[in-house]
Amino acid sequence: MSGKNVILFGPPGAGKGTQAAKLRDLLNVPHISTGEMFRYHMKNNTELGQTAKTYTDKGQLVPDAITIAMVKDRLSRDDINAGFLLDGFPRSVPQAEALDTILNATNVSINHVVNISIQDDEIRTRLAKRAAIEGRADDADPKVIQNRINTYKNQSEPCLGYYRPQGLVRDIDGIGSIDQVFDRIKKIFN
Ligand code: ADP
Repeated sequence: MSGKNVILFGPPGAGKGTQAAKLRDLLNVPHISTGEMFRYHMKNNTELGQTAKTYTDKGQLVPDAITIAMVKDRLSRDDINAGFLLDGFPRSVPQAEALDTILNATNVSINHVVNISIQDDEIRTRLAKRAAIEGRADDADPKVIQNRINTYKNQSEPCLGYYRPQGLVRDIDGIGSIDQVFDRIKKIFN
């Protein structure tokens, strides 16, 4: 099996969270989701949560300094020694650079950037459905959804330009059933 230091990448609604849960079970490594970490803080109304909410509510990224500090702290735990599944991070080129700095300090490197892609109209359909089912505030408002798509294009997608020259990007078609998409991802690890 190839290395297990994995980034799950893709636009909002690509199915990162769903696939992450399955991939975590396959690889037996911790699933680190910045979106989930922020939602936990918002639910518990911590100071970090209150700050994060002002950005997530608008479909904007939480500032890099805050997000990077939170991830750095999480990656300092030794349960990541056998690998990790980063979901929702990095989401900007400065975050990608910071991640390399954090990992380099302990001689760790990324093995795969799993890039799940879907089209804009599919993103909108899926997020509207998720809003109805899970009631996530940032899924309900079409304006916020459009902001998240724009934020993805402007700030997150450039991360692929950071990782592609390093030969790390594995492109996965995100259209299909959950199991069909997972079968595509599994092949990376065979
Ligand atoms: P999505 O379905 O948009 O991929 P996530 O659950 O990953 O949602 O994240 C929800 C929100 O949390 C994002 O819209 C953003 O405001 C914030 N967030 C998550 N990850 C990051 C990150 N790496 N940097 C900055 N903000 C983030």
